[in-house]
Amino acid sequence: MKVIVIGSSHGGFEAVQELLQDYPNAEIQWYEKGDFISFLSCGMQLYLEGLVKDVNSVRYATKEGMEKKGVHVFVKQEITEINPSQHQVTVRNLNDDSTRTESYDKLIISTGAIPSKLPVAGNDLENIYFMRGRDWAMKLKRATVEPNIRNVVVIGSGYIGIEAAEAFAKAGKNVTVIDILPRILGTYLDSEFTDVLAPELEKHNVNLALGQSVQKFEGENGTVKQVITDKGSFDADLVIEAAGVKPNTQWLENTLELNPDHTIKTDAYQRTSAEDIFAVGDATLVTFAPTDQPAKIALATNSRRQGRFAVKNLEKETIPTPPVSGSSALSVFKYHFASTGIKDATAGSYGIKTESVYVEDTWRPAFVPEDHNAKVQFKLTYSPEDGRILGAQIMSTADVTANINTISLAIEKHVTVDELAYTDFFFQPGFDRPWNIMNVAAQKAQLKMKNK
Ligand SMILES: Cc1cc2nc3c(=O)[nH]c(=O)nc-3n(C[C@H](O)[C@H](O)[C@H](O)COP(=O)(O)OP(=O)(O)OC[C@H]3O[C@@H](n4cnc5c(N)ncnc54)[C@H](O)[C@@H]3O)c2cc1C
Repeated sequence: MKVIVIGSSHGGFEAVQELLQDYPNAEIQWYEKGDFISFLSCGMQLYLEGLVKDVNSVRYATKEGMEKKGVHVFVKQEITEINPSQHQVTVRNLNDDSTRTESYDKLIISTGAIPSKLPVAGNDLENIYFMRGRDWAMKLKRATVEPNIRNVVVIGSGYIGIEAAEAFAKAGKNVTVIDILPRILGTYLDSEFTDVLAPELEKHNVNLALGQSVQKFEGENGTVKQVITDKGSFDADLVIEAAGVKPNTQWLENTLELNPDHTIKTDAYQRTSAEDIFAVGDATLVTFAPTDQPAKIALATNSRRQGRFAVKNLEKETIPTPPVSGSSALSVFKYHFASTGIKDATAGSYGIKTESVYVEDTWRPAFVPEDHNAKVQFKLTYSPEDGRILGAQIMSTADVTANINTISLAIEKHVTVDELAYTDFFFQPGFDRPWNIMNVAAQKAQLKMKNK
């Protein structure tokens, strides 16, 4: 069997891994249009801040390493067309601009997403950057040490925008974050958490310009100098656009069925509308566990899971890709937070009824001295109808983020508030309190439901 995998990031990598495991005799051709395989954008902040020194180490596979395992790796080779009826793809070799066709028995697409460019005047000026992939990582790194770049404007306060803001603030730049939403991280956290993080960012020289939309960019000699919003103007020697991504699927419009948001339509087995063609990663949707509906959640974790399941279902529908809760975590200066599932802020967009309880506790028992202790904030969201757990958020200066993985499992397994209230979690004063904060919140939710 000959399998072609397109795209060398998270989804493509995992598909190749599973192929090597399940089909050791298959001929695997792996295509990447860039000149580098498996760059890990998730590690970009660590590189920009200097913790990781070599940009080429921010990866999880090398061409040589994969070739040793028997994979045929093609870099700077772009798949430009698919002919499903002939089971063929057109390959453009970017090294010499030649083209050829290759046949396949099975094809796995993981062409991902590309950053959205704001459709405003001046968006083609110099020094308007994006934060995705190795080429932008190197340009951004140079900008952190470029003395002429003093004012940095980040557009978008999702986790990528906040990572960029923190990296440039730590590099000594004056940073402004602009977002159309009135709160930072508005789809990740509710206000109990962002009300703490916003001043933390401001304390570190990050100016927040929220609830405003960018109207245009103005420049001098072809380079950006000002960002104009509906509420003000901001000096900018560098702009980083982090206001969302769009699926890299334009080239597939006449080949495969796409969803209205231009992601590739797949079933639960990652099969597309064409026989023997599978799609995974940011170019597709996932099933969101709290609602059991398709959702766009661009995360490496999702791409990786889908890559594995595409191969598990390569020859026949065997096992559907499990739904996901959309769990993510981030540090913002001294705080560490994680969230999963539905928040109050996002509940409306899913059209389901939710209720939440918010609790604050200490990380360790109160008798543990303050310098070895920390405040923990936790919010649990559930269905007021049957008590099913639907989401949670946690934050502290201590790293308690792993609790969110437990809630993710609870969401996926349809655990209720009653079950979580007395679930057995360990206690030892060096780690925890006699009641874990998840027990505490679920017990509070039980009371709230009872007193309704
Ligand atoms: C700054 C940043 C930080 C992030 N941090 C996290 C994190 O901490 N945790 C997390 O879970 N997620 C994180 N993500 C999200 C995560 O990186 C993406 O969800 C993931 O990379 C998606 O993988 P993918 O395989 O779908 O495609 P992509 O990563 O988008 O890669 C697609 C690849 O396909 C190649 N390609 C495209 N078209 C073709 C073609 N026609 N022919 C050949 N090759 C092609 C591209 O060059 C690219 O290498 C982060 C993203 C960014 C930008």
